[in-house]
Amino acid sequence: MAAKTKYLLDESEMPTQWYNIVPDLPSPPPPALHPGTREPAGPEDFAPLFPMALIMQEVSQDPYIDIPEEVQEVYKLWRPSPLYRAHRLEKALDTPAKIYYKYEGVSPAGSHKPNTSVPQAYYNKAEGITKLTTETGAGQWGTALAFACSLFDMECEVWQVRASYDQKPYRKAMIETFGATIHPSPSDLTEYGRKLLAEDPNNPGSLGIAISEAVEMAAPYPEVRYALGSVLNHVLMHQTIIGEEAIKQLEMAGDTPDVIIGCTGGGSNFAGLTFPFMREKMAGNMNPTIRAVEPAACPSLTKGAYAYDFGDSAGMTPLMKMHTLGHDFIPDDIHAGGLRYHGMSPLISHIYELGMMEAISINQTECFEAGVMFARNEGIVPAPEPTHALAGTVREALDAKEAGEERVILTALCGHGHLDLAAYDRYFSGEMVDYEYPEAKVQDALSRLPQGL
Ligand SMILES: *Cc1c(COP(=O)(O)O)cnc(C)c1O
Repeated sequence: MAAKTKYLLDESEMPTQWYNIVPDLPSPPPPALHPGTREPAGPEDFAPLFPMALIMQEVSQDPYIDIPEEVQEVYKLWRPSPLYRAHRLEKALDTPAKIYYKYEGVSPAGSHKPNTSVPQAYYNKAEGITKLTTETGAGQWGTALAFACSLFDMECEVWQVRASYDQKPYRKAMIETFGATIHPSPSDLTEYGRKLLAEDPNNPGSLGIAISEAVEMAAPYPEVRYALGSVLNHVLMHQTIIGEEAIKQLEMAGDTPDVIIGCTGGGSNFAGLTFPFMREKMAGNMNPTIRAVEPAACPSLTKGAYAYDFGDSAGMTPLMKMHTLGHDFIPDDIHAGGLRYHGMSPLISHIYELGMMEAISINQTECFEAGVMFARNEGIVPAPEPTHALAGTVREALDAKEAGEERVILTALCGHGHLDLAAYDRYFSGEMVDYEYPEAKVQDALSRLPQGL
């Protein structure tokens, strides 16, 4: 029988627990520090921002956490998501490699983000919170949180990075369809935004700036909390349902991965796919190479410092030890808005330091070339972010061809690009540029890292 194209799980086979990799690691990640005292931050330091249930998940030592039934019910709107074998892409590359991709674009927001927005809204609602604020880059996270808040009857206010707000008008319409409010960032609604606009009315914004604005509009208000779409331990943990499903699906296919490749912005889709496989690797059940691909214009893992830094530009969040380009670094205007973050998840940064994964960076034109090739063979137009994972996959498949090896490659197609077609337009018109690694700008931003930690 010819190998199948789609490996599908029944709803009844959907995992009912998230996986927490922290207790399985050979050493624990360094603690977050209070921004004022610089002592290890306690749960109360996070309380103005997050509900206690999520703070407890953030510091949990339990290897598994039950997914609440109400969350499982919502997950079933799109989960389990399909695992595809990319037969046509393999043929086009003339490679002996087997390429599998786990597709998260089937969710209501078109990406993996609802895997965490739904539980985040659920736990906030359970603690009496009536409104969530957040930032968004390309708009995927803002859409996902707006969707989740609409299900749990909560208000939602989103600050979108100005450059993306102007490039991607349909995200605003989608976020408003789900009942949320959206503002370009920097905005004149916050003290920090007004300060930046006074310095430069044309500030294109950054994820770090938008986070500062959303935090400023949440922390002082007891009924309002802030929600982050990536970076934090609990967010990465919610995404592990991706990898848990993929393990079952690859079992159905009778394959074990040799290489797993994902794109990294803050690290959540990458962690979601790879952490359950890292568990299997630590247990000696398989031995895949695990590789992150980041944009050459915003290479936090491959070129950033491993240091304590703020999660936002204004310096309001707890300090986290992570690979960072500096909290006030404003990346060049690449089209993968979701990958334009100055830092990397502290947990992934720690795992990278432990040598449990690799990282490379790729320029955006090579990524779009891979994205277009993928679309022409597999039929799905990828979001600009996962074109990085696809470019890494193409490189690996061609390498397997040169070596004459039947490698099994697994990648994360974490979102579709239907609302990112303007980026494809730029690519086809030849206007898309590759940015050199901005060495001077990074050195400048790194000079403002918090000292003495
Ligand atoms: C948000 C987003 C990313 C980047 O965030 P990670 O936390 O690194 O996953 C990547 N791809 C898509 C489609 C996104 O929406």
